[in-house]
Amino acid sequence: MPAEADIRGNLAAVRERVDAACVAAGRAPDEVELLLATKTQPAARIAEAVAAGARLIGENRVQELAEKDEELTALAAGHAFERHFIGHLQSNKVNQVLRYVGCVQSVDGAELAGRLQRRLETLDRTLDVLVQVNTSGEPSKSGASPADAVAVVQQVAAHDRLRVRGLMTVGLQSPDEAAVRASYRALRELRDRAADAVGTGLPVLSMGMSGDLEAAVAEGATLVRIGSAVFGERARTA
Ligand SMILES: *Cc1c(COP(=O)(O)O)cnc(C)c1O
Repeated sequence: MPAEADIRGNLAAVRERVDAACVAAGRAPDEVELLLATKTQPAARIAEAVAAGARLIGENRVQELAEKDEELTALAAGHAFERHFIGHLQSNKVNQVLRYVGCVQSVDGAELAGRLQRRLETLDRTLDVLVQVNTSGEPSKSGASPADAVAVVQQVAAHDRLRVRGLMTVGLQSPDEAAVRASYRALRELRDRAADAVGTGLPVLSMGMSGDLEAAVAEGATLVRIGSAVFGERARTA
């Protein structure tokens, strides 16, 4: 596991990669934000990243959000940061997730949208959301199918407590760069169609990870989700 100095250095190196990818694509570096994917990382290491300037933290499991919350809040006191939910959200975890996050990136259909809406009415608040699309078509991946994505965005946008900000995808895991780029291009094209359909801008495209952020930035990513390039390789769970 990298020590604190490494987290800071790794974060700077990733930011440099993003900036270089923006320049190569003729885009302004400030168009792309970094979100740190912190699954399996202890609160102390997440707090080190926050102290080093990370502003967006993404968790995949509600249980990890809950377990790390108290320590992270204490250790990162004085630094502004926001947590997003980036994993598959089970309906029975909706009430709990809303205690921790300012954005759910993994809304995949009308049922989850309806549950979020009802809970947000009770809490009298709103929530930023992204609609997750399974652009790779791999059955193991969550998200709406590309064929349903525009309709799902319309259904989600019909809920007045949900502010649809854009789309998210995990993308294709493949050494074939052209195929990876095509999956990110597909998300951008769906975003453009969905924005026309709902009549509002959908500025956020959450796509790109440690291994392929350059391809995602070239295809218009505005938020890349980075884990291993900052925290090191995750221990493999059997
Ligand atoms: C783990 C994870 C990432 C980051 O993956 P790395 O390859 O470690 O950068 C991004 N998005 C989601 C949804 C993840 O679960």
